[in-house]
Amino acid sequence: GPDPQNSNSNCSNLLDPRIGTDLLCVVRDLLKKVKRRVLVGDKVIVGSVDWTDKRGMIEDVFERVTEVIDPPVANVDHLLVFFALDQPKLEPFNLTRFLVEAESTGIPLNLVLNKTELIPEEALFDWKERLQSWGYQPLFCSVDKKVGLSAIEEKLKGKTTVLMGPSGVGKSSLINALRGGQNDADEDIMNKLLEQNSKWFGEQRVGTVSTKSGKGKHTTRHVSLLPLAGGGFLADTPGFNQPSLIKVTKRNLAHTFPEIRRMMQESEPSRCSFNNCLHIGEPGCVVKGDWERYPYYLQLLDEIKIREEFQ
Ligand code: GDP
Ligand code: ZN
Repeated sequence: GPDPQNSNSNCSNLLDPRIGTDLLCVVRDLLKKVKRRVLVGDKVIVGSVDWTDKRGMIEDVFERVTEVIDPPVANVDHLLVFFALDQPKLEPFNLTRFLVEAESTGIPLNLVLNKTELIPEEALFDWKERLQSWGYQPLFCSVDKKVGLSAIEEKLKGKTTVLMGPSGVGKSSLINALRGGQNDADEDIMNKLLEQNSKWFGEQRVGTVSTKSGKGKHTTRHVSLLPLAGGGFLADTPGFNQPSLIKVTKRNLAHTFPEIRRMMQESEPSRCSFNNCLHIGEPGCVVKGDWERYPYYLQLLDEIKIREEFQ
């Protein structure tokens, strides 16, 4: 489809009724051989378009700006870490895992806490202060009560966002609240086409091997991008609610904590004495242990050390 941000620059685009049409596309065989697979979010060149059947063929893929591995989405430029204050209870270590996962991509992130109406106002204020001490400026909302949604929409405007968070926090509810004016009929047609042509979508399926039977089975990991009214897209990623920390290493873990980044910056140019310092009490280390999430840092470091030993 056309880039919504650029559609104003070419007025003739606005007159073409085909602009904005969803097309069901196959990937050109040759392209599969020479390049990596086409991802959701890729900007592509489509040819052989049949406007009646709404089909086409992907001829080429533009260079990706970013790539998120899990979920596999290209050109993501914003992450929304989404949690609930209660039901399920906000657990600081679990939140830290998601934040570390998000930070490890290098993509800008925003933190949103949902279900504000479930906790007293003082508790809300305490969380705000606490998360600020971690280095975040959280947004608060209640999807149920439709409070705080416009501030979220503002953050999503013009960006391609991946929504991250554990199950039960209200991610699907948020997506439904934001899709508002979307044309469901178009989507129904698209879904029917997808079902009828599921064999075409081999690229979106990831083969997993069931450890019990040893037999291969296919898990569909369909990711779709929801176009937002204010421009931009939200990746709807059901099932991606367990941070793998796959990109996090012993070396780069420290950089995923804003507290450590700040301590490093403030100490400049002195820095830690050892340039491979892990900040676990080495002599001449500028990272002190007097901050709330330091124990989480140590725990994650241990986990990563164990994982790296077995690799
Ligand atoms: P997901 O697993 O993250 O997609 O979460 P869902 O969107 O399925 O929501 C889980 C439950 O939380 C549902 O019962 C929602 O109705 C409920 N929920 C979502 N937003 C709110 C909210 O702002 N307040 C309250 N109390 N419940 C909410
Ligand atoms: Zn150090």
